[in-house]
Amino acid sequence: MSMPELAKIPFPSGYEPIPLQEIITKVQSDCNLACPTCYVYAGADQSWHDKPGRMEEPVIARMAERVAEHAEAHDMPRVEFIYHGGEPLMNGDEYFRRAGSIIRSTMPTTTETLFYMQTNGVLLTDRMLDMIGEEDIRVGVSLNGIASVNDAMRPAKGGRGTHDIVSRNIRRLAERLPGNFSGLLCTIDPLSDPAETYEELARFSPPAIDFLIQHATWDSPPLHPAPATGVWLAKAFRHWSGQTDAQAPTVRLFISIIAGFLDKPSRSEQVGLSPIAAATVETDGSYELVDSLKIAYNGAPATGFNVFDDPLDTIMHLPEIRRRQIGMAGLSDTCQACPIVKVCGGGMFAHRHSSENGFNNPSAYCEDMKTLIYAVNDVFRAQYRR
Ligand code: SF4
Repeated sequence: MSMPELAKIPFPSGYEPIPLQEIITKVQSDCNLACPTCYVYAGADQSWHDKPGRMEEPVIARMAERVAEHAEAHDMPRVEFIYHGGEPLMNGDEYFRRAGSIIRSTMPTTTETLFYMQTNGVLLTDRMLDMIGEEDIRVGVSLNGIASVNDAMRPAKGGRGTHDIVSRNIRRLAERLPGNFSGLLCTIDPLSDPAETYEELARFSPPAIDFLIQHATWDSPPLHPAPATGVWLAKAFRHWSGQTDAQAPTVRLFISIIAGFLDKPSRSEQVGLSPIAAATVETDGSYELVDSLKIAYNGAPATGFNVFDDPLDTIMHLPEIRRRQIGMAGLSDTCQACPIVKVCGGGMFAHRHSSENGFNNPSAYCEDMKTLIYAVNDVFRAQYRR
């Protein structure tokens, strides 16, 4: 759906745009892994080819000014910069010291400025950990389960598996900097064993686990037809909800579904009606929408605006951003009529896309979402009756 089409969506009266609190900062375009299903390199949007390899200092400085203006204008108590790639750690430790210094010295003192990073974990050396501790960056690492599953999905360039080195590095991160270990991100393989996958991730004692559904749209349907993904997640949920260890990690997707049943905010982009207040800044300073849109069509995340010419407020007012801040009103008619819409929220925004209707569809994972959400409901009800 093009921008003019999105602009036709009626917005509820009294709607106030929510300032953009999460800045996904694309510091590196390249990656040292060759994951076959990566949405950046294998998705429909191939714009990374035309972008600079990394975000250079003039771009970092201008981005920081734009975010600082936005934070001051909206009296924001907190902003999060999320270093992202490609693989951010390919930039080296000194890069992040310099980037952090530029951003901190630009942001208003009245706004708490937090730094996060999503990494594949291969380059989490002692030297990097020193920098992460000094810069106080909260780090999420991607790991897809046991070695055979992870290595098929997350090979290095050249084909070697990464499970061994990433496991060692996660262990080192968890031991040396437990306060900086924000969790593990696992893109699920519906052919793997859900309980085994959960246990493999839980052995690192992450504070949180994110199970991510493989990206798909109506034009590029899920690799594993419904309800394979929903059944996998439902089994994982039953296994997780049976844990008696009080230290068991949170699973954001499951917690967010439970929150939906309790009319509480979602903590996952994959479910719920909570407003999304995020924007991406690419290595060349262009503003983009969320990364996952790269699977929808070539150019889907592009906005046509950039940090050199345009304030961040411009992005906050874009129809694509507003649509994700207005709850039910931003959903397709099918979703609005769905009995579990408050919990599901139409699924992940990118997964709704078809070339016929744009984003006016339920998720391409609709049947899987129903399978999972009704499974959570069943466990919930059974516990309530006890
Ligand atoms: S994607 Fe499917 S399950 Fe989710 S709200 Fe829409 S219709 Fe309901």
